[in-house]
Amino acid sequence: MLQGRIIKSLAGFYYVESQNQLYTCRARGKFRKENMKPVVGDICDFEIDENNEGYIKTIDKRKNQLTRPPVSNIDQALLVFSITHPDFDSLLLDRFLANVEHKNVKPVIVITKIDLDQSLIEKIKEDYHDYHVLFVSSKEHIGIDEVKAVLKDKVTVVTGQSGVGKSSLLNALDIHLHIETNEISDALGRGKHTTRHVELIKMHDGYVADTPGFSSLELEMEPRELAVSYHDFRRLSESCKFRGCLHDKEPYCAVKKAVEDGEIAKDRYVHYLSFLKEVKEIKEKRYG
Ligand code: GDP
Ligand code: ZN
Repeated sequence: MLQGRIIKSLAGFYYVESQNQLYTCRARGKFRKENMKPVVGDICDFEIDENNEGYIKTIDKRKNQLTRPPVSNIDQALLVFSITHPDFDSLLLDRFLANVEHKNVKPVIVITKIDLDQSLIEKIKEDYHDYHVLFVSSKEHIGIDEVKAVLKDKVTVVTGQSGVGKSSLLNALDIHLHIETNEISDALGRGKHTTRHVELIKMHDGYVADTPGFSSLELEMEPRELAVSYHDFRRLSESCKFRGCLHDKEPYCAVKKAVEDGEIAKDRYVHYLSFLKEVKEIKEKRYG
């Protein structure tokens, strides 16, 4: 039995990489029955028969999974935001962070175009001090090696609004994905999800998914899930007096205390409250 990672799926075949070899495999019928179709990113056991045909036998438990398009076992999401042109949008960043962390994917914030403006760097560092934040200029080749180091040995999705400099960054990293990053990654371009197909491209000893990844702006989660989506909120919520605290009107809330003490940025908390309102409204609409 061999073990490998599914890096591509096409027309009923799975392309499994194992020790730098690529094997074309089919899945045994039982997966369909168990409603556990293999997806790109899955780690699987497979065997090769005497006709050199591969069969996937079992799939390891997934550590996480995206649905559109289906890809699993993602280590991290690069959330690309420009410092200017377009203006740094912390409300959108906080929205992405909630979605990413809710899916149990580690976010890495990449702030681009720092050659154009440095005035916000300190504020971003402070507001997101509990996050991994990289400051880059693709134009001046600043911070590019740090991004390379982050990609090493990891499975990464890259996401960000159109115009923030994703293509330029990927070029600077010498990464050439198959998708038109420009069009599909437009975070506001709902309905542009034309890619059913996803592939993991090997680079810098890791994999980059040629998918826009988290381009959905919808917060598809329960209020309680939102309350523990940000890892620092989650950590603090263990000290909130009430189980299931939504860090809103509840007394003795550790998150609100952290905001008062300046440990959590006021802006982030204000954004959180607006998202909380939003997910509550979605819930009410759904269940009446
Ligand atoms: P994408 O839509 O996210 O792929 O963004 P692009 O990579 O196409 O970049 C959008 C615009 O920003 C282009 O005009 C780029 O030349 C410019 N740009 C990208 N990165 C930088 C940078 O680091 N510094 C400066 N000054 N401009 C940049
Ligand atoms: Zn609380």
